[in-house]
Amino acid sequence: MRVLDLYTLSIMLIVMCAALSVAMLVAWRANKTYDGFGWWTAGNLVGASGFVFIVFRGLVPDIIPVVAGNMMSVVGLLVALHGIRIFLGRGGLVYFNVAIVALHFLTSIYYVGVDNNTVMRIACGSVITGAITAMSANEFFVVPKDAKRFVHKFAGWLFLGFSLVMFFRGIVTFAASPIDDLFVPSWIQSLSFVFFNLFAVLWTFTYMVLNSQRLQEDLETAQIELERLATTDYLTGLRNNRAFFERAATEVVRSQRHALPLSLVVFDVDHFKTVNDTFGHPGGDRMLRELAAVCASMTRQNDMIARLGGEEFGLLLTHADIKAAGHAAENFRVAIEQLIVEYEAENIFVTASFGVAELRQDDTLEGFLARADSCLYQAKNAGRNCVVSESGDIPHSYLESTNFIPPPPTFEHRV
Ligand code: GH3
Ligand code: MG
Ligand code: MG
Repeated sequence: MRVLDLYTLSIMLIVMCAALSVAMLVAWRANKTYDGFGWWTAGNLVGASGFVFIVFRGLVPDIIPVVAGNMMSVVGLLVALHGIRIFLGRGGLVYFNVAIVALHFLTSIYYVGVDNNTVMRIACGSVITGAITAMSANEFFVVPKDAKRFVHKFAGWLFLGFSLVMFFRGIVTFAASPIDDLFVPSWIQSLSFVFFNLFAVLWTFTYMVLNSQRLQEDLETAQIELERLATTDYLTGLRNNRAFFERAATEVVRSQRHALPLSLVVFDVDHFKTVNDTFGHPGGDRMLRELAAVCASMTRQNDMIARLGGEEFGLLLTHADIKAAGHAAENFRVAIEQLIVEYEAENIFVTASFGVAELRQDDTLEGFLARADSCLYQAKNAGRNCVVSESGDIPHSYLESTNFIPPPPTFEHRV
């Protein structure tokens, strides 16, 4: 135990805690850190300064280094606990902190000033620090299940380990030997100080990992959000043009390779300019949003609906031949025709025209799209509110079955 004398260990602790605090300050300055990180840094600094008092023992009346020094260690641990709670999004424990500080202060004063009993003082101090670190451990064990739990569990076990060492120290100090002077070599004290060193390194490391893990998670979330924003249409929430063509390109290759049918429906709202002219742009926007919601609700999971731009939409149907796509287009046409959007005490109705094409073995994406577009153009020319399919047999049969008379191009008549 001579090599583990407490002066040396205390000085080592001070130097190391100071070095760890500097490392944390550098991390704090250089990286994005989260609420709680500053408290952890402060906790290390306060804890380290507690050992400075202990080293100066003998130079000033005992009561100062013993009470103040141990107090700083306890406050350091409470500050770290506060940091843990803040980091995990929980509030501070004001009453708990005040009660612990008061309890520790009173027991220290009593066992130094009134009844000079080092064993009782160390035993009390150990139980109090054990309780604080057990609380810290608990904070990490009760994180939500969906959080990445490995580091939290590690931190929990670390604090629990420290807590158990403290309780063990309290019991053994009490049971084993009367210690008159803190610096008289005692295996309990020396081992405790070695453990302080060890834990200080480990929990500082854990703080850094927790912070960088949170940073990484935030980056991943931001990346996902960015991806979502880049592929989503801001007005309707449908996929946008870019997402549609990326998916279409993939599906074209896949369908051609496996000789699977793939169809494309493009549709455009009829006389939408009149909607804007009649109800204003906000009215037009409302119509587009509700129309998109209806279309999205009708789209199968393997298919993709997107807003290609303005009042034009695309529906990509996997494993669907021209006939199936024609059916789908007709269903959409009827749904849009029956949609009533209330806007400022008025009802807005619209219709849409549809073009349907099926992928050919020697097709390119451009050719495929151009054929669907050309059908849409024909549907507009045929009087709108109808489906024109490449196969040429869809629009009439469907229009006949609905007995639909195309509406006049102005809306006042229909409101
Ligand atoms: P057609 O039947 O030939 O398609 O006639 P149309 O009026 O729908 O076609 P046109 O291309 O002349 O007009 C499209 C209108 O759609 C004009 C434009 O202001 C409107 N529009 C495009 N994007 C939006 C949008 O995001 N919100 C609103 N409210 N209107 C839009
Ligand atoms: Mg239009
Ligand atoms: Mg258009």
